[in-house]
Parts: sequence; C-alpha cells; structure tokens
Amino acid sequence: MRVYLDHNSTSPMRAEVRARWLAVADELLGNPSSVHASGRRARAVVDDARACVAAALGVHEEEIFFTSGATEANNLALLGVLAAAGQEAGLATTAVEHSSVLEPARAQAAAGRRVSIVPVDAQGLPDPAAVVHAAGEPALGLVSVGAANNETGAVPDLAAIAQGLREIPGPRPRFHTDAVQALGRLPVRLREWGVDLASFSAHKLGGPPGIGILWRARGVALAPRFHGGGQELALRPGTENVPAIAAGAVAIELVVREQSAFAARTAALARNLWAGLSTSLPGLRLLGPPIDSKQRLPNTLCILVPDTDGKVLVTRLDLAGLEVSAGSACASGSLEPSHVLSAMGLARDAARSGVRLSLGWNTTAEDCKRALAIFHAEFSSSRAT
Ligand code: PMP
Repeated sequence: MRVYLDHNSTSPMRAEVRARWLAVADELLGNPSSVHASGRRARAVVDDARACVAAALGVHEEEIFFTSGATEANNLALLGVLAAAGQEAGLATTAVEHSSVLEPARAQAAAGRRVSIVPVDAQGLPDPAAVVHAAGEPALGLVSVGAANNETGAVPDLAAIAQGLREIPGPRPRFHTDAVQALGRLPVRLREWGVDLASFSAHKLGGPPGIGILWRARGVALAPRFHGGGQELALRPGTENVPAIAAGAVAIELVVREQSAFAARTAALARNLWAGLSTSLPGLRLLGPPIDSKQRLPNTLCILVPDTDGKVLVTRLDLAGLEVSAGSACASGSLEPSHVLSAMGLARDAARSGVRLSLGWNTTAEDCKRALAIFHAEFSSSRAT
C-alpha cells in the first residue's frame, strides 16, 4: 500500500462527491443556457450548486463565480480588478504567493503597472504593516495576500492587513485572498478577514478537478478577462462544467461542515509525525511557523532535509511508496529552488532541500506510521551513500 501525503497538490475525490459527479454526468443534461426542459434542468443544477456554495461560505449567491480552477480565479481577480480600476491602479502582493498570483503580477509590472512585492519573515509570514505600507498613498488599487501558503502552511493575519487598509486615506484598495489551501482546514470567514475577493479550488478538498470559485463581494468592480457568452454575469463566459460544479459544491459543503474535526484530527497526526521524524532524524528542520502556532495549517509539514536535493528525495520516497512534494507541484518540473523558501531567507541549496508532507481527509494514523518508517529508511540510506 502506497502512502499519499500530497493533499496540498490535489486530494482524491470523496465518495459523496464522485457519486454526484457521475449522477449529473449520467443525467444527459442540456446546456444551462438552453430554454428547453433539459437546459432548464442543467440550469437548476448550477443554481443549486451556487446556492450551496454561497451558504457554505456565508455569502450571497450572485457573489459566486464558477471558473476552471483557482489559477483562473486568481487571474480573474487580479487582472479583472486592475482592468476595471484603470491603468493608474497598482498591485501589492507578497513574495510567497502561488505562481497564479505572482505571474500575473509580474506580467502587469512588465506592462508598466505599479506592482509591489512585499517580503516575508523567516517563518514565511508578511508583516501586516509592511503590506499596508506597500499599498501606499495614494492607494494602489488592489492587494492580494494568500490565506494559507501551499508550501509552508503559514497563515498570514489577513484581518490585521484589512484593518490597516481601511485606515489608508482616500479610496481603500480592494483586498483579494487566494484561499485555496485554507478552505476546509481553517475557518474561512470572509467578512471577518475583511477581503473583497477570494479564490478557491475544488480538487484541493476532495472535489473534482477543473472547477474553481471566485467570490467577489457585491459592488467590487471587475472586468471580464474573456468575452463571449453571458454566463456567470458575463464575467466568466463559457458553457458551464455542470457535473464538476455540482460535485464541487458537495465537496465544499462537506469540508466546511467538517472543518473543525478535520483540523483537530490532521493537526494531531501531523504533530505526531513531526515528533517522530525530529526525534529519529535530528538533522531535520521544520520550516514555517512552529508546530503549535495558530498561524499554520493543521495538515502541512514543510521539512528541510539538509544537504539533500528535495526533488531527488521525493523521487526516492516515491520509489519506496511514499508520495510527497518538493515545494509546489506546479513548479516541481523546474530545477529552480522554491521561491517560497528563498523568500524566507534560505540559501539557494537549502531552498532546494525542502519536502512537503500534506495530510488530507483520508489520511490515517497508519499512513503516518508508514510514512515515518519510509522516511527514516530512506534518509538513513541516503546518509550512508
Ligand atoms: N493557489 C494555491 C495556493 C494553490 O496551492 C494552487 C494549486 N497548486 C492554486 C492556487 C491553483 O489551483 P488550480 O490547480 O485549481 O488551478
């Protein structure tokens, strides 16, 4: 039996989600934009899913936009808000964001827009005051700070940033968060966080791939990135992925309902796993906030294995039956060190030595025990060779 500890990359579909996905796909639904009965049935499925997601997130239905995933949701949020705000509007974000935030930010900078990338501390956390300062006077237009980092699990203080942004004189910048890794793992309280837009992805939480969500609060100006049909209030045109939307809504409803139990269970498993690893392999270092910090995801362990290439170790662990990641899966084709670990001040070689273990809804204590044994065997033999 292999052990899968890579839920921050993608998390296997849950049985309830799969059942809904297949049922909707099997129902031979029409196009939700068609007026005939089959079309109306498909429209009802999309409407129900939107209502379900809105209820789970505690927001209004017309604030939910279905996209192909969080990469698209992040791009729509950043590029859409900036386009609506005009060429003078700028962007502030942090150095540890996912590439689907940092790359559009860089593209905007290359196109001549003001873009400020805020550094983070050694735990991977931005100083809220530094973010607010970067948002500047006159205000930049948009600030984007992730709710939880996919590599380290660091959880910035969004409410403190929002408070600071409210105190900037003149028009307040809009505030976006990439909340992909937070949903189902932390309480997602969009109003308390003080954000205007948030991105989510179903496949990170036991939903199907190919479905994401952008939440945009009422009244926040957003320009579409694509043009075509009138779907999703014409802000995200294109025929809806009805089975994935229906199944994604089931996944979101489940994880929100189960969030506190999930957090307690995975935090205990992760704490034990780290205790086992650090006791038997004293050279290892836990990156990001300390294990019991409130500013860390319960399910994520980012571990520095000194003098090792993380990607080589990941391959060796894979051969031994343990599936983990070196940094972000999206970047793991590259030989570059992790931009997140580099931003935390790790030297180039150290920033290539991180491996990430991320637990999910089906991770058991037995999985963690086996992971510890595999890690230990692999690490000891790599010391010996
Ligand atoms: N943001 C974060 C923090 C992520 O971890 C990911 C997935 N690696 C994404 C965005 C992109 O999500 P998707 O795969 O749905 O495009």
